[in-house]
Amino acid sequence: MGNMILLADEVEGKRFFPCPKCRGRNLVDEVEHGGRTRVRVFGFEPGE
Ligand SMILES: [Zn+2]
Repeated sequence: MGNMILLADEVEGKRFFPCPKCRGRNLVDEVEHGGRTRVRVFGFEPGE
C-alpha cells in the first residue's frame, strides 16, 4: 500500500482531497490502526 496521505493536497498545514463535484475539501489525517498507518477522512469544508 502506498502512503495515501502524500497524495492529498496541503494548504496551511491541512491535508485534504478536493471534491470534484463541489470543490469542497475532504479533510484527512493519519491514524495508526493495527500497526499500520491509515488515512482517515475526519471532516469536510465547503468550497468557495
Ligand atoms: Zn462535494
